[in-house]
Amino acid sequence: MGGWEIVLRGGRVIDPESGFDAVADVAIAEGRVAQIGTALPAAPTDVDVAGLVVTAGFVDLHSHVNDLAGLRLQALDGVTTALELEAGASPVAAAYRSAAAEGRPVNYGFATSWAQARMNAVAGFAPGGTLAEFLSRLGDPGWQRPAEPAQLAALLSRLAADLADGALGIGVLLGYAPTVDPGEYLRVAGLAAQAGAPTFTHARDLIEMVPHAAIDGAEEIVRAAGQTGAHMHYCHVNSTSQRHIDRVLGLVGRAQAAGARISTEAYPYGSGMTAIGAAFLAPERLGERGLVPSSLTYAPTGERVASETRLRELRQADPGGLAIIELLNEDDVADRRLLMRSLTFPGAVVASDAMPLTWTGPANPQAWPPAAGAITHPRTAGTFSRAVRLLTRGDEPLSLAQALSKCSLQPARLLEERVPAMRRKGRIGAGADADVMVFDPATLSDQATYTDSTRPSAGIRHVLVNGTFVVRDGSIVADARPGRPVRAEPR
Ligand SMILES: [Zn+2]
Repeated sequence: MGGWEIVLRGGRVIDPESGFDAVADVAIAEGRVAQIGTALPAAPTDVDVAGLVVTAGFVDLHSHVNDLAGLRLQALDGVTTALELEAGASPVAAAYRSAAAEGRPVNYGFATSWAQARMNAVAGFAPGGTLAEFLSRLGDPGWQRPAEPAQLAALLSRLAADLADGALGIGVLLGYAPTVDPGEYLRVAGLAAQAGAPTFTHARDLIEMVPHAAIDGAEEIVRAAGQTGAHMHYCHVNSTSQRHIDRVLGLVGRAQAAGARISTEAYPYGSGMTAIGAAFLAPERLGERGLVPSSLTYAPTGERVASETRLRELRQADPGGLAIIELLNEDDVADRRLLMRSLTFPGAVVASDAMPLTWTGPANPQAWPPAAGAITHPRTAGTFSRAVRLLTRGDEPLSLAQALSKCSLQPARLLEERVPAMRRKGRIGAGADADVMVFDPATLSDQATYTDSTRPSAGIRHVLVNGTFVVRDGSIVADARPGRPVRAEPR
């Protein structure tokens, strides 16, 4: 044996799938883990990782990041695969093409996008376009109108075409079009069930927030799973449920026990971030979520929104501008416990909802480290380190392997049926993709904050993607773009 390119020598190797947890060497060749053993022969790149943990890189099911600087922040948080599954992209082939042309440090993949397909079918907006264009249209009532039968047919056939093109599932930003006919959502779920594809939903408003809603947002997801048999993934339960997390998770748990295919994710922050023009951030609707204008911080200027008048101005002038929204209070013990329950719920995975950087000065996504004027939500840089830190400490800590599993193995498994390539991700063993992270468990921690949002996490020493270092000795490797597309195998 031998002939390996890299050996990571003498670390504590943790594989959440097999339960392997011992000091060993990890040999890497041709983008895969070749062997795990002790006293392996030397390799041209032989790295001493004694005292560090060696495990599978994190699989992020919810990343909106498409800029190099943002992807590097994710890599420095242990992420080796960043998938855009909630907003999605349509036409999906164009999204894969442009990611391949740019080159990415981490693996990438896309669900198709119900919202983008609907913007085209119902509002006549041109398909594709940039994320900034998409965000600026999100609050436009034009695409949220009821669909005529022919428009619904066009929308569904667009989604079906994307699924046939290898889209990983269907992303449904339902909560951004709160008056859409619940029947349409069931049709989308039915299409997903037929294709064997999961759906990723930003839930509609909860009944506690909007008593006159056509249907409760949580009930709707559960109903779709029950009626269609589709795998319904409930995105960021923490942010859309706010202080109703226990009610929502109780409902999901009962449906799961009855056999419905529902999975959940959460990120460990009390605030969210989205386009300031979003329907649910209209001044007259803030009260539904217990918000006031000053609950919002407008990222491009860093200002706390002073008044309803100012909020109207910003929504008019820059509807796609990102804002941080205080949903739960991280300084409040009860709110912190709620957040933790969204993470510790059985089967819940960690997913970041990472956002692209907003540039308050000149945009320069190639520069590293990011310029001082770059702003994002701290979840972009810190979700996974923070989740592992929080899950392994506190009153009822998980083991390190259990916490890592929520970041790597469990998200990979959620996609495996539709995406067989995911069977080689999220685990570390012979034959697995060499998406590997090496960290110091004593110092692993998020560093990004709401006021210093692009500070990389601490403690992550090396990150390899397909056997190529993208982080080495804690630093970004400048030219590394080893990310590969992750595609479904349509049945
Ligand atoms: Zn969302």
